[in-house]
Amino acid sequence: MATVHTATGPVDSADLGHVLVHEHVFIVGEEFRQNYQDDWDEDAKVAEAVRDLTELKELGIDTIFDPTVLGLGRYIPRIQRIAEQIDLNIVVATGLYTYNDIPFQFHYAGPGMLFDVPEPLVTLFTKDLTEGIADTGVRAAFLKCAIESQGLTPGVERVMRAVGQTSAQTGAPITVHTDPHSQSGLVAQRVLAEEGADLTKVVIGHSGDSVDIDYLMKLADAGSILGMDRFGLDLLLPFDQRVDIVVELCKRGYADRMALAHDAACFIDWFDHEAKKQALPKWNYRHISEEVLPALRERGVSDADITTMLVDVPRRYFE
Ligand SMILES: [Zn+2]
Repeated sequence: MATVHTATGPVDSADLGHVLVHEHVFIVGEEFRQNYQDDWDEDAKVAEAVRDLTELKELGIDTIFDPTVLGLGRYIPRIQRIAEQIDLNIVVATGLYTYNDIPFQFHYAGPGMLFDVPEPLVTLFTKDLTEGIADTGVRAAFLKCAIESQGLTPGVERVMRAVGQTSAQTGAPITVHTDPHSQSGLVAQRVLAEEGADLTKVVIGHSGDSVDIDYLMKLADAGSILGMDRFGLDLLLPFDQRVDIVVELCKRGYADRMALAHDAACFIDWFDHEAKKQALPKWNYRHISEEVLPALRERGVSDADITTMLVDVPRRYFE
């Protein structure tokens, strides 16, 4: 057992229940919002999130891990306001989301740089994990970084090494946004291991966008958790293929190396809200409970394996 910090305080890892390991609540660029989103209605947005997450709890999900970090618009006071009104745990993250460069706030300070100080990313991530985020009193419980098709750019590498070091020092687990088509999960495993991170505490995010079983087994055989975490994003991989690859991995004994999610959000400012709903009608929090789990069972996945993916793997991630 381990203590897991959530937006409303600590819970025991044994009490996380059924978990979706990668769901956003809001992806909103705050600078963009303040300058260009004149129609933003904070109360309405919060009410929508409360409604969606209450629905999710009614479908049997008890906890979400929300990997919304710097670069995706993390804003904890809004998350707290929502978390206080629902009976579902929101576990928040620290880290930095980029496919290319790092923000200017970090360009001139760091080891061997103009202002020669210890890596400020490690300092900030560690503070979020051990003391709390800003003055909210909310502690992050896991780390997040990304490596896309652009590969290990200097900015991506700096963030990833800082995430690995912070994990090695604090024991906090990691989620990496990866691009399975360029097999960037293998690069993430190498770099994180070089920094001393425990690969069994790493979710290789968006692995479920791939049906390359050899690649997926290689990641899992190194101990990491495959994030089958984009159910509903059927434009990237259709529903049947997303389900079938989970079925096949379960058959091969990998249920204990997989975790499930949608990578959905109540609101994301990357797309027009209504156009997104039209193009991706299944990309919402309900899809796994309503359609994916029944399909997995129909295709032979046992209830024990489903419990492993939804309960045991997310719990072990923190223990
Ligand atoms: Zn995501």
